[in-house]
This record gives sequence, C-alpha cells and structure tokens, in this order.
Amino acid sequence: MKISGIKGMNDILPEEIEVWHFLEHCVREVFHAFGFKEIRVPVLEKTELFSRSIGEETDIVSKEMYTFFDKSDHSLTLRPEGTASVMRSFIEHQLHKTSQISKLYYVGPMFRYERPQKGRYRQFYQIGAEVIGEDNPLVDAQLLIMLDHFFKRIGIEDVQLQVNSIGCPECRPRYRQALLDFLGDKLELLCGDCNRRYQNNPLRVLDCKVEGCGKACQDAPSVLDYLCEGCSRHFDTVQQLLNDLKVPFSVNPRMVRGLDYYTKTTFEMVTGSLGAQNALAAGGRYDGLIESLGGPSLPGIGFAIGMERLVLMKGRDSVLASGIDIFLAALGEKSVEKSFFLLSGLQKHGIQAEMDFSGKSLKAQLRRADKAKARYVLILGEDELGRNQAQLKDMEKGSQETVSLENIESFLLDLLS
Ligand code: ATP
Ligand code: MG
Repeated sequence: MKISGIKGMNDILPEEIEVWHFLEHCVREVFHAFGFKEIRVPVLEKTELFSRSIGEETDIVSKEMYTFFDKSDHSLTLRPEGTASVMRSFIEHQLHKTSQISKLYYVGPMFRYERPQKGRYRQFYQIGAEVIGEDNPLVDAQLLIMLDHFFKRIGIEDVQLQVNSIGCPECRPRYRQALLDFLGDKLELLCGDCNRRYQNNPLRVLDCKVEGCGKACQDAPSVLDYLCEGCSRHFDTVQQLLNDLKVPFSVNPRMVRGLDYYTKTTFEMVTGSLGAQNALAAGGRYDGLIESLGGPSLPGIGFAIGMERLVLMKGRDSVLASGIDIFLAALGEKSVEKSFFLLSGLQKHGIQAEMDFSGKSLKAQLRRADKAKARYVLILGEDELGRNQAQLKDMEKGSQETVSLENIESFLLDLLS
C-alpha cells in the first residue's frame, strides 16, 4: 500500500532546494551583520507555554494547535510559532545575565492546523528575530531597517511595510472600551467569530477578513487617538527614524496583531502578489511577555517571516541551480575502476564530481553529464587508457583536448579549484 504525506505538510525536493539555501544564506549574512546570534529550540513544548503566551482566545490557541498527550500523559504541543519557545529558553538559561541586550534569531518549521491552500500550510517555515532587554524606539527602528534590508537583499520588491501602535496596558483599556461602544449596535453585521471576539478580544474584530466585518468597522475609532503620552512619543520616534533612514512605510491603524502579547509597535510586511495570503512577515513589541512567563521584567520586540511565501514570490527557479564541476565518463571495466579512484580523490578535495557505474554508452553518459550541468567531462576510453591518456571536454566552450593520466588528479584540482 502506498503511504502519502500528511495534508498541508510539504516535501521540499532537491529541485527546489536552491532557493531555500539562498534564503538561509541571506538570513545569516544579514542578521549576523546586525549583531544577531542563532538559537535552536525544540519543536515540542509543554502546551501551557503557548496557551499562556499567545493567548487562549487567539485563533492559534483555540483552533490551530497540534496538541497531544505523550506516554506519560503530559500535554505537549508542536510549536505554532517561535517567540514563546525562544523566551522560555531565554528565561530558563538566564541569558540576560550573560549580556545586557540579546539579539536572537531562528529558522525552522512551525505547525498550525489550518486549511491548506496556496501560501498556507500545516507545517511551514519561519525565520524569526527577537531583541530582548531594550525598550528604546531605536531598537524598533533598527529591527525594521534590518527587515527592509533583508527583503532588498533577497530581491523581493513588491512588499510594503505597515506599522501601527496598539498601546500598552495603560492606554489600551480605554481604546478597548471605545471600540466596544462603537461595535455594540453592529453585532448583527459581524460574523460569528467576531461576535465571540467582541466578548473576549474586541481588537481582533478589526483584523477579520470577512467582508461584512470590514465594512462594519469602516468608521471604527482609531487606536492612535487613544495612545498614552509614552506610547505616542515612542511611535512618533519610530516613524521619524524610519523617515530619516529612508525606509518606506505606511501607518495602518487597523492592524492589530493576532497574538495577545503585543504592545506598542506592531508591523507587517504585505505584498500584492500572493492573493489572500498577503502577509510575508509580521511582528511587534512584547514588553510584558517575558515577565508573564516567569522571567525578569524585560521588554522585547521581534518578527517572523514566512519562508514558503518568500519562495512563492521568488519562484522556484529564480536561483539558478548550479551544476557539478566534472563528470567522469568511463568506457570499459578498467576505465571504470580508474575513474572510480579519481572520483573519490576529487570528491575528498571538495570537487563536485560524478560518474556512471553501470557501463552505459558514451552517448548516454554524456546525456547524464548534460543533465547534471557538468562544467567538464573527462572521457576515459579503453584504447586511451592503454596510452595513459583521456579526453577532457569543456562543456561551456565546447572544446576538447587530450590530457595525460599521469598526475591527472592534481591537474584537475588545479583546473577546478
Ligand atoms: P495570516 O494572517 O496569513 O494567517 P498570521 O498573522 O497568522 O498570518 P504570524 O503568526 O504573524 O502570521 O506569522 C508570521 C508569518 O508567517 C506570516 O506573515 C506568514 O508569512 C507566515 N505564516 C503564518 N501562518 C502560515 C501558514 N499556515 N503557512 C505558511 N506561512 C504562514
Ligand atoms: Mg494565521
């Protein structure tokens, strides 16, 4: 019986891996330059870590988590996002004691039980970054500058940065009340989910993708009119810095993020190229999160980028698949043996070399070399082997020359490295 993979969980095949490698390479290059260090945390955590930090009422916790009991009856969950795990690890290892300000990043799979469609999967990869220990708006600006630069580095142009501030525990309750007052007589216009959100988390109504809800909220009060002085000054400074550094952005007072832990600055990178799945990255400040998880009272800010959506934007073939260095075409048993020794020698020196073991015709072997996009082909025929010679074909130039097999390994190493 054929066993298929799980719906919404993708294989990333060798033919598409180049663009993934390219993105991972750019992450390391850009994030390291901005002073970030990588952290790797497990994909499984205790369920309460997510329910407490992300929030019981969020879509993620209420319907999207892969939660199960292990053999010791502990409730575990496959991580739906990275921030909670990174904070858990930060607190557990007391990383704040080793440095004043911590800049961490991660790359890895996340799991959410969502309806799979283009750009939305049940296992998907995120690139995330977190800055812990500093509530200066300069940090918000620096993170956004890095994000903007990362998109430029990977060559994605159709992307717009939207920023907002959703206030702090001092000013948000006033806004919440204003929104409740506004929505109070519009409940029949809102979807079922939003009627629930109205009770539990009214800000989330602004985020609803249902058309009727969007219409009903058209004249909703703006969170920006309710910010306290501190939050207002913080947000002004962030915008000023982005302007000074020529990072284009727009303010979207409707953007409330889907997770409970955000405070002050929130942001999204959106595109017009992917239909409904238009968010490429999202994040915000979370000044109370670390303390609420039992850690020290330290502020933080971070973002996560969805890698599959970047791959969709770039197109799988955008990064040219690179070819191998050399293909050894051997004809006859003795030549195969000689080639095999040469092959192993070259490979140990880091040369990408391949050969065919099955004694196919020269034509078939050359076809294989072509498929592997080999830069050179070394042809070892039986007669030539007797003369201790071989033919070296330069596939780019289309030229061919006779070479001696005496010291052939060092000759090829010189040529290829
Ligand atoms: P969306 O509004 O698309 O559901 P989200 O607000 O749930 O996004 P976040 O939790 O902020 O997303 O995650 C950050 C990024 O991760 C998103 O901007 C998106 O690019 C990506 N992402 C989120 N969920 C998925 C998914 N199920 N499949 C693929 N990528 C995803
Ligand atoms: Mg979502």
